Formats: sequence, structure tokens, C-alpha cells
Amino acid sequence: MAVYQIIKDGDPVLREKAKPITAVNDAALRLLNNLRDTLRETARGVGLAAPQIGISKRAFVIEIADEDIYYEMINPQIIKMDGREEGWEGCLSVPGVEGLVPRAEKLKVKYLNREGQECELFAEGYLARVVQHENDHLDGILFTDKTIAFNKDSEEEGE
Ligand SMILES: [Zn+2]
Repeated sequence: MAVYQIIKDGDPVLREKAKPITAVNDAALRLLNNLRDTLRETARGVGLAAPQIGISKRAFVIEIADEDIYYEMINPQIIKMDGREEGWEGCLSVPGVEGLVPRAEKLKVKYLNREGQECELFAEGYLARVVQHENDHLDGILFTDKTIAFNKDSEEEGE
């Protein structure tokens, strides 16, 4: 088990466009494991993208424990988006900040799983929001770039 320090806003790695993972090999699996372990250690997050642990590669994990939801996505691509919904978000890399962010309400995302198989997920509501938030991290975008209202004193969960 390897738990990483979460990279905070201000570090340039969070602003890079992350590189695709060219092979689902041991290094890629280790990355997924480290993302999972680090996310679980925070106990506050629901998602963690590789740049947030300082690795500029296209992968993230999502865990919504209350709903038994756990996904690992390598080279995700959002291929369809529909609707619009505003919702509050936070981020482990931007501690203490909560923002209202408009996102697509539903989406379809294509990705590789840890077996290297191509998968597709249809997501809506909160899960769709988390997928978009994590996917933005791979393009160097933080939720604060899209926030239309801030509430800095909140203690909501981070993503
Ligand atoms: Zn985030």
C-alpha cells in the first residue's frame, strides 16, 4: 500500500495536460492501486486523479462508498454529454473551498479498466458530476475554473 501526499493548487502538475497511458502494465496497475489507497486514506474524497498525486497520466479512481460505487478509469474519454445541472463541489487539491459548478447531467464515458479492456459507462447525477470533475484534472482544469459561486467556509466532501 502506498499513500501519496495530495498535490495542492498552485503546483504546475495540476495544470498540465496529462499523457495517455500507453500500456496497461504493472506500472499502470500500481498507479491505480496508489490512487485507490491514497483516496481511501483521505476518507473525505470521492475521486482522485493521477495528477493529484503528482503523476501526469490519464487515470483516475472514483469511490462512492455509500452507493457501493467504485471505478478505475484509464484513458477516459467522455463521448456524450446531455443536460445541465448546477451542484456544489470541492476538491482535495483545493482544501477549504466549495463551489457551485454547472455540469452535464448525464454522460457516457469510454475507458480502459485494469484488465486493459475497453469499457463504457453511462452516468447521471452525482456520479456524472464526479466523472467530469476527475476528467477535468487530466486536462489541467480545476473546478474553481468553472465555479459560478463560492462558499469558502464549507466542510463538504472533496472530489
Ligand atoms: Zn479535484
